[in-house]
Amino acid sequence: MFKVFPICAFKDNYIWCIVNEHSKECVVVDPGDAAPVIKFLQEKSFKLTAILLTHHHWDHTNGVKPLYDAYDVPVYAPQDTPLEIPAIRFEKETSFTILKNLTFEVLFVPGHTLDHIAYYGDGKLFCGDTLFSAGCGRLFEGTAEMMYDSLMKLKTLPDDTEVYCAHEYTLANLKFALAVEPDNHAAKQQQQKVELLRSKQQVSLPSTIALEKQINPFLRSDCSNVIQTIQQRTHLEALTPVEVFKHTRLWKDQF
Ligand code: ZN
Ligand code: FE
Repeated sequence: MFKVFPICAFKDNYIWCIVNEHSKECVVVDPGDAAPVIKFLQEKSFKLTAILLTHHHWDHTNGVKPLYDAYDVPVYAPQDTPLEIPAIRFEKETSFTILKNLTFEVLFVPGHTLDHIAYYGDGKLFCGDTLFSAGCGRLFEGTAEMMYDSLMKLKTLPDDTEVYCAHEYTLANLKFALAVEPDNHAAKQQQQKVELLRSKQQVSLPSTIALEKQINPFLRSDCSNVIQTIQQRTHLEALTPVEVFKHTRLWKDQF
């Protein structure tokens, strides 16, 4: 009953629009730009009923004020995201219901930023810049330990969870994933699939938790192939999974 549409913004951002197909009411996640959202709502005749934010970065929040001014809808935001408008804040992990009967769990996933949260409900995960397909967000504010714990939290969600990331980074991430694990068959297959999709300007998302467990090096710090590659690169032995994660992230930063 709930359908999700991508609204493209900037170079590679996705603003996800979740729609109740019966009522045509919708919410948007991380509107970094208002103009493409307004255009989309008009084209589809959807009624905006709320705005959800995952973290404070401008490419996820710059459209909030103009949309709030135009539609006067509630804004759900992390506790520490600076905003010039009133918002419903999450002091702790909790759940809330929107679009009449869509209940979202709020998950705290610090690492990319300290305020970062994710929304999980109806078998769908909106994870902003924490988890990408075959990748993860850069560590701008949090530590590797924090990000590792956040990713492990997401990894425990059901295998069939649809993963809606905020950027189209999949192909570049898969290139790195295959540098980490050259023999990862699932990653190679996914690369072919996504190359075809992207050649037709199609969206590579949503992914699933099951697929990410197979192809995402940042969810695979406990896999022998990944551990071996990182040990060889760093000349360190007996690395813990979080140390493997940390060195994988450092490598990706300059890949
Ligand atoms: Zn960000
Ligand atoms: Fe972003």
